[in-house]
Amino acid sequence: MPETPDFTKEPPAKAGIDVNVAGSVPRARALAPAHEKISVRHLDFFYQDGNRALKDVSVPIYQNRVTAFIGPSGCGKSTLLRVFNRIYDLYRGQRASGEVLLDGENILALKRKAHLGLLRQRIGMVYQAPAPFPMTVYDNIAFAIGLTRLLPKGELDAEVEFYLRRAALWDELKDELGQKGSDLSGGQQQRLCIARAIAARPDVLLLDEPCSAIDPISTAKIEQTIDELKADHTIVIVTHNLQQAARVSDHAGFMLLGELVEFADVHSIFVNPTDPRTRAFITGHFG
Ligand code: ADP
Repeated sequence: MPETPDFTKEPPAKAGIDVNVAGSVPRARALAPAHEKISVRHLDFFYQDGNRALKDVSVPIYQNRVTAFIGPSGCGKSTLLRVFNRIYDLYRGQRASGEVLLDGENILALKRKAHLGLLRQRIGMVYQAPAPFPMTVYDNIAFAIGLTRLLPKGELDAEVEFYLRRAALWDELKDELGQKGSDLSGGQQQRLCIARAIAARPDVLLLDEPCSAIDPISTAKIEQTIDELKADHTIVIVTHNLQQAARVSDHAGFMLLGELVEFADVHSIFVNPTDPRTRAFITGHFG
């Protein structure tokens, strides 16, 4: 278990933002009301060893917005993402209780394999370590397209191009579509994984530390891509990079020891957090 931070030490009286984050914080702006795509209610999660990794978490995930979860390592961010597409089901002994409503339907109650398959098509995921399928760049995308629709060759080509463009990869790879995905640079591989994820047309895209293992240029391209993708998808990102959370998200939640301490629009979280623990984390007092 991670150590409990020492909150007896007084954080700065004002929310003096970490200088490294300050430049990334968006200006305060009123967000229009949005549909609650996912509603998490009183969610608990237990690993097979009994570790309660999520404790009574309730949080809204708004449609066509980017929501970031931040917090120190081990606070439950990845576990929360793993609940959203029920991927934890693949591991014996892991269980969740409470409710996770996707457009009003409790996904924790889904039992049939076919329904879980459909859920994972609706909720795509990109992991920290890029893992293209062992096939060409073209086939990585064509495969994902084929999961939801059959297209004639000409249309398939056009869609492959569309998704590679959306992931800011087309210009770099348009003459090398026959190259193996695994031969690309790490940053290109991750963009290929994003292109593959969106080619399956998910409603929700989960990004688990998508930039932690890649170069700054690819990171910038992915951040730009995230901004563009929210027109069509609801995005949830877990990142240890506070500047990145501040740059890309509309809403942010701060987690600590399995609890959601605070959730608000990104400006409030980074500039005017209400909980002293959020303030201490944002200002670099622990992490
Ligand atoms: P974060 O993403 O914030 O770093 P995680 O969700 O990975 O945190 O982990 C939350 C808690 O669950 C931590 O205490 C971690 O040690 C624990 N945990 C993660 N994976 C497992 C596992 N497979 N078995 C038991 N405990 C786990």
